[in-house]
Amino acid sequence: MRIYIMTDLEGVAGVLDNENWCEWESRYYESGKELLTREVNAAIEGFMSAGATEFLVADGHGWGAINLALLHSAAELARNWPASKAYPFSLDDGHFDYAAWIGQHPKAGTIRGHVCHTGDFDVRDFSINGVSVGEFGQIALCASELGVRSIFATGCQAFTEEAKALVPGIETVAVKRGTQTDPGHHLPAAAYGKHNIAAIHLQPEEARRRIREGARQALLRAGKESFGLMHMAPPYDLVGILRATENEPPRTFRAHHDKSVIAMLNMSRTITPLKSADPLAMATK
Ligand SMILES: [Zn+2]
Repeated sequence: MRIYIMTDLEGVAGVLDNENWCEWESRYYESGKELLTREVNAAIEGFMSAGATEFLVADGHGWGAINLALLHSAAELARNWPASKAYPFSLDDGHFDYAAWIGQHPKAGTIRGHVCHTGDFDVRDFSINGVSVGEFGQIALCASELGVRSIFATGCQAFTEEAKALVPGIETVAVKRGTQTDPGHHLPAAAYGKHNIAAIHLQPEEARRRIREGARQALLRAGKESFGLMHMAPPYDLVGILRATENEPPRTFRAHHDKSVIAMLNMSRTITPLKSADPLAMATK
């Protein structure tokens, strides 16, 4: 049994902010990578205790965040994808029985979302067919298109609520809880990147204990219950809103595909100014 694991860094217990932990030159970057890799290993151990045998770990953090030397030996690592064909981030690499997320953060604008963002900190909202989705929702839709069920996800408390709203029945583990209650919709990207750093974290070993147990439960339940697919009918329309910058008002980008979410997410996006008469402009108020 083979499981796909998408990873990110911002949703890991002990990863306190973006500036000091998540960027290439961050002082605690290597420590953050170790914390993530050990959370991934805990999930692998939990899945293996319930019968899984093979794993592909897709390192989805912008700068990369898996320490391959520390990664469980039952896993392969996928990292770097062709520029115009990044989606679905190796979910099409042969057969997968299930998909899981470790260290994921909530979508942009999430109240009590720790270091929440969607792709980059300049994105204010990202919607597909009117459903606001973050990075989890985008890949969960790709997985569903390929018939792969999303069964387990970890991150901050607000992220686990986002995952459960999009994929009813998914097993989740919260490893910290954000405490910022202002969504920060008006902030430009740089300020927004530092806006959601307040949180209360589990001690990492306790986080890993819960992840190990949660992964085991997810796989045991997946054998008995049918959950994990997102149902969204074609055609597909993507609408994104970018935050204002010093020099530019809020802007919007769009894409459309008649049949495939994956193909749509790979399309180049045209960015246009958001006119005040556009109904979307209300969303930026
Ligand atoms: Zn990231």
